[in-house]
Amino acid sequence: MESKMLYEGKAKKIFTTEKANEVMVYFKDDATAFNGEKKGTIASKGVLNNKIASFFFELLGEKGIPHHFIRRVSDREMLVKALTILPVEVVVRNIAAGSLAKRLGLAEGTKMAETIVEMYYKNDELGDPLINQYHIKAMKLATEEQVKTMEDYALAINAILSEYLKGKNLELIDFKLEFGVYEGKVILGDEISPDTCRFWDSVTKEKMDKDRFRRDLGKVEDAYKEVLYRLTGERA
Ligand code: UDP
Repeated sequence: MESKMLYEGKAKKIFTTEKANEVMVYFKDDATAFNGEKKGTIASKGVLNNKIASFFFELLGEKGIPHHFIRRVSDREMLVKALTILPVEVVVRNIAAGSLAKRLGLAEGTKMAETIVEMYYKNDELGDPLINQYHIKAMKLATEEQVKTMEDYALAINAILSEYLKGKNLELIDFKLEFGVYEGKVILGDEISPDTCRFWDSVTKEKMDKDRFRRDLGKVEDAYKEVLYRLTGERA
């Protein structure tokens, strides 16, 4: 059976497979920032993010977090369960950076007294605006129960990843998650990678994520490679 492209996003393409409830994710090297205003490519990013995301899904699965990942099938391809994505981006923040630092006038690097969970409306035309559970209910983006599930998983994922990364000398500053519905249940989708997280070296505080691209800090590919190495021991 021919595989058809269902969707092309900024960093990934999605293809049909012979099974209706499974799709193939293809990771591209394209990078965008500031809601698509800044465009570029990061050499071998697709390969690195596919490996990094596969690693994180396996780790979270072992810890009981349900997710869409089935298996990595090639350097750039990952087989996943076909979800109905909830149009809500869930951001978890341990340390102030990026849009939070700007919006609230906090110095980047300020440790928050409590972990912050934020929801954004997944809508490129509107630039993914910040929303809360009232907007989500009123716009019927997700049910109250689904919001609670996303929040609970987001905090559990934060605890698992923060702890794991600490052992690899990486600080988990913040990250974005997307969830979808599969067989009636909310499960984790999308990807977890240096494109969707901020990682700082625990000692030097060096940025090891997409901020190197956003802010033209150089050595973008090297940072992604170093993250893969610290997580898996694999030298790309
Ligand atoms: N993030 C993401 N996709 C987005 C927006 C944010 O993956 O469309 C991630 C981003 O990499 C960071 C966290 O979510 O780890 C918080 O991002 P922030 O709101 O600070 O936004 P940005 O710096 O992208 O403006």
